[in-house]
Amino acid sequence: MPKYTVTPGTLVPSTPFYYYDFDLLRRTLDAATTEAAKYGYHIHYAMKANVEPRILREIQCAGLGADCVSGYEVQCAVENGFPPEKIVFAGVGKSDREIEGAIRAGIFAFNCESLQELEVIDALAARLGRRVNIALRINPNVRPETHKYISTGQAESKFGISYTEIDQALGKLHSLNHIRIVGLHFHIGSQIRNLSSFAELAGRVNEIAAWFASRGVELEHLNMGGGLGIDYEDPDAEPVPDFAGYFRTFHEHLRVAPGQTVHFELGRSIVAQCGELITRVLYTKTTAGGANFAITDAGMTELIRPALYGAHHRIENLTAGTEERAMGLYSIAGPICESSDVFARDIEFPESRRGDVLSIRSTGAYGSIMASNYNMRPIAPSRFSDKLN
Ligand SMILES: *Cc1c(COP(=O)(O)O)cnc(C)c1O
Repeated sequence: MPKYTVTPGTLVPSTPFYYYDFDLLRRTLDAATTEAAKYGYHIHYAMKANVEPRILREIQCAGLGADCVSGYEVQCAVENGFPPEKIVFAGVGKSDREIEGAIRAGIFAFNCESLQELEVIDALAARLGRRVNIALRINPNVRPETHKYISTGQAESKFGISYTEIDQALGKLHSLNHIRIVGLHFHIGSQIRNLSSFAELAGRVNEIAAWFASRGVELEHLNMGGGLGIDYEDPDAEPVPDFAGYFRTFHEHLRVAPGQTVHFELGRSIVAQCGELITRVLYTKTTAGGANFAITDAGMTELIRPALYGAHHRIENLTAGTEERAMGLYSIAGPICESSDVFARDIEFPESRRGDVLSIRSTGAYGSIMASNYNMRPIAPSRFSDKLN
């Protein structure tokens, strides 16, 4: 059984729960690795999208490395079998403890986000008697067409070392003996559907890499980050994201020097479409203004993206899907005591009743991982299509 379905007369488990379609996850991983392999590209899975152990195992078995943004993610990646030499560690605020832990784990490279961080990593590496690989995360000042909260590569963003500071960074690297620059790292944002943003990124990377080459710095790797978007409007139209177009864009626009490896950090595009949040309608009501509300037993505690950045998720009434029902305008809202706890406003939706089972689609990335205990709610469980629950 791939997508979650409700069959009349059969019991649906206690809600809410996350549901993962493993067949789709495998097809997605297969497409991503096949397309990347055409150009010899390496993929690191962005752990922050989802750390469900069964999903991590699947991803790790497909041969992906890990991209971590905290020391806890580094530890989680190691514990789940990702080889340390395939782990990269980014983040604007790495603590000393997190850095030490990652040095001890022997990760492939730190993606460094400030000049000060270079000094701190150098000092900690010296204390541990190690020499560690670093890549400079450079803010290329590329502005992708996506939500401002998930855009990270424009000049005023907190992420990365400004392209105006790379001269200074290079000067510093000459005097720091316990770090070794192996590459450059970029990540311009997330949910980017227009591939021309990636072409623009590749163009900027070419300029910056040429600048380093002209100063005699040999870069062993170029890391383009992640950000490939998915179809939230119509997940069934594009269940597997356009990895072919994504990697081809880089192949066509990115200049790669002999011996240089190219790395990517994909999160959302790997896991988003295989996940659904299954919830029940608890109550329905009509406001004085005549608007219909369906109140569900899942809320922003299970899926915060709509409340956090106005994200759109397709919602389906699975129970109504088995019957003939009139359509109406509905807002679908959770039970949390926050006005922002609304999944969708005034959408065309089948007449909904108490007990109906709904699916909120495309929730495999940045869903369960952002769950909270707000209102003292327990974390919802996960269920899997291959029934090994
Ligand atoms: C979030 C993040 C990613 C993954 O982004 P997606 O849009 O989920 O592919 C990759 N690299 C870094 C540094 C990140 O912070």
